[in-house]
Amino acid sequence: MDKLTQEQRHRCMSAIKGRNTKPELLVRKFLFSRGFRYRLNDSRLPGHPDLVLRKYRTVIFVNGCFWHGHEGCKYYVLPKTNVEFWRNKIERNRLRDKEEQRKLASMGWHSITVWECQLKPKIREQTLEALVYTLCHIYLEDRRIKPYSPVKENIQMVAESETEYCK
Ligand SMILES: [Zn+2]
Repeated sequence: MDKLTQEQRHRCMSAIKGRNTKPELLVRKFLFSRGFRYRLNDSRLPGHPDLVLRKYRTVIFVNGCFWHGHEGCKYYVLPKTNVEFWRNKIERNRLRDKEEQRKLASMGWHSITVWECQLKPKIREQTLEALVYTLCHIYLEDRRIKPYSPVKENIQMVAESETEYCK
């Protein structure tokens, strides 16, 4: 029998269930309250992204840290038994995520991954504000004629004043 802690098991199960998990709801509610409109789990796109913002040409994945193997994250801890099984499984998930994002990029979509740990109460607000900032930035950059300036997408940056201009 596997020695998953209750929390790990819960995380696994909600990842398997996959839909309407709490972190995803947080992102949806926040974006909706800021006037963003989106489609959910678009099955025509690679990876069935959790949120699709067509106007922003952007998809958002809200990923569980365990299931998607969030590198360097304290919530990504392999169970003590069946280590190889879990390692392989999560490595496959990781490769699949990468491949799907590559496909999306080749179709002209921006991909943003929001990790579950970034939605913990302490940093939730910051993460969500940064997400809005990034979306606005993408929107503006996509519409700008840019002979040379490179696009900088930095999810860490927060600049609330800019969010007013791009709904
Ligand atoms: Zn994480």
